[in-house]
This record gives sequence, C-alpha cells and structure tokens, in this order.
Amino acid sequence: MKSLKEIIADAESGHKAIGHFNISNIEGLWGVFGAARELGVPVIIGVSEGERKFIGVRQSVALIRSLREEFDYPVYLNADHTYSVEGVREAALAGFDSIIFDGAKMPFAENIAKTKECVDFVHSVNPEILVEGEVGFIGTSSKIWEEIPEGASITSEMLTTPEQAREFVEKTRVNLFAPAVGNIHGMFKKMAGGERNAAAEEKLDIGRIKAIREAAGAPLVLHGGSGIADADFVSAIQAGIGIVHISTELRKAYHDALEKSLQDDPDELAPYRTMAPAVEAIKQAALGRLRLFSGM
Ligand SMILES: [Zn+2]
Repeated sequence: MKSLKEIIADAESGHKAIGHFNISNIEGLWGVFGAARELGVPVIIGVSEGERKFIGVRQSVALIRSLREEFDYPVYLNADHTYSVEGVREAALAGFDSIIFDGAKMPFAENIAKTKECVDFVHSVNPEILVEGEVGFIGTSSKIWEEIPEGASITSEMLTTPEQAREFVEKTRVNLFAPAVGNIHGMFKKMAGGERNAAAEEKLDIGRIKAIREAAGAPLVLHGGSGIADADFVSAIQAGIGIVHISTELRKAYHDALEKSLQDDPDELAPYRTMAPAVEAIKQAALGRLRLFSGM
C-alpha cells in the first residue's frame, strides 16, 4: 500500500488531485468510499473536530483502517481543521494519516510557532503522518451565509501571498499547505437555490496558486471546494493543487435525500432503509467531483 505522501506525489505528477470528503457517519463513509471504488481512485476521508467527536476519534481510525485492510484500497484519514495543539496530539496518537493544524486566525508569527510545535510533536510520534498548515482567510463555517453577508466578496487582502507561503513552510516544515486563493468554506447562495449573487461568487486566483506552489515547495490543498465552478477546478489542479476538500455539497445531498426519503415513506422505521437514498446521494455527489479531479 502506498503512503499518502506517495499518493499525493503521483497525483501531482499526473496533474490530478485527490478528493477529500468530510463525513459525519457511516452513511457518508460508504457513499464516498463507494464512489472512489467505482472509479478506482484514491480518496481521503476528512473529519472535522465536530465530526470526529460525533463518530469518535479512535472509531474514525478503526473504520478507515478496516476499509483499507478489507479492500486493500488507498483510503486515508485526515483530521480536518484542528484548532488546538491538544487536538493535534490526540489525532496523532490515535493513528490519523494526516492532520491539519488551523492557526489561520492567529497572527502570522503565532501561527508559525504553534504549527511548528504540532509538526515536531506529530513527527516524533510517526514521521509518516502528514501535517498541514494554513495561512489566509477561508472562513470556518459551512453554514450558507453565516460568515459571508449578502453582497460581500473576497478581497485580495484576505489572500495568501507566495512570500508568506515560502516563509511559513520553511519555518514550520509542514508537509502540506492550505492557501487562501479565492476559495471559501461553504457555498454561496446560488448553490442553495437562491438568487445568483455575482459579487460573492468564488473565483480562484490561478496565477497565485502557481506562484504559491513554487514558493511553498509543498503540495497545496484547496479548501472550500463546494461551489467552485468545474473549469476553475481544472485550472487550479493544473496550477498546482494536489488535494481538494469537498464537504458542504455532500451535506446538502445527504440532507435533501434523507428529507425526501422520510417524506416518501413516513411509515418506514428501519434506518438502513430510510438512509439508503442518502448514501446513494452522497455517492453520486462524490462521483462527480472525483471524475473531475482525476480528469475522467
Ligand atoms: Zn477546510
């Protein structure tokens, strides 16, 4: 079985990206894993602090490990946005494949110091675990419009510069770097079926991605993938994005399918029946993204 580091290097050299999908439960896991297996592509399962509290930290590791072993399949587990050094330690000791320390809201120097502390600890536990750092504003919520008021837009002061990327990676020795390049967590209103708001659309700065990839010297991770146009994804991957995070789109697919399933058959009480359409909806959403990321 290839390591996650090797899988990412393979993807980059083939101008492809690995899909990273967040899950909250086993329905999400089977949906995403089913999609990856259907296409035969590697996949990263992400659990945020809230998601891993719900599933269980050690249980998350056991679930992904069981799939990797039973199916001899390249499926990896990432501790998404971890805001404390303690949370990073817990994930490293539990056996995650990669961990994001998110110090993006801290002043730059403090972000560097805390991230470096995390890198040193994690690599003392296991040098194979990848650590990701983040610089710049990409928001923290996947709730539509919670952080982005109507009419707001992403300004260039919120974006990461190549100089910041170089300094951050050099000083922290992170394995992966998450820049702010016009991406934002959650989806804009048009995705929720509302009015299109041109001023607030996600538009990736492709030139900046290329410059940051060169300056950082580490693979780049694109967060907040939900709501980004297909053509922008393709250009971003060509420019140097190695991993793309998708969460909100899958949550919406799950939510809508479950709602419909409960309404369609209000007398059905078996969760494995009411949940089946939600698993399928997640699978279909993940399939579309995985095809795009792997150039299929
Ligand atoms: Zn993210």
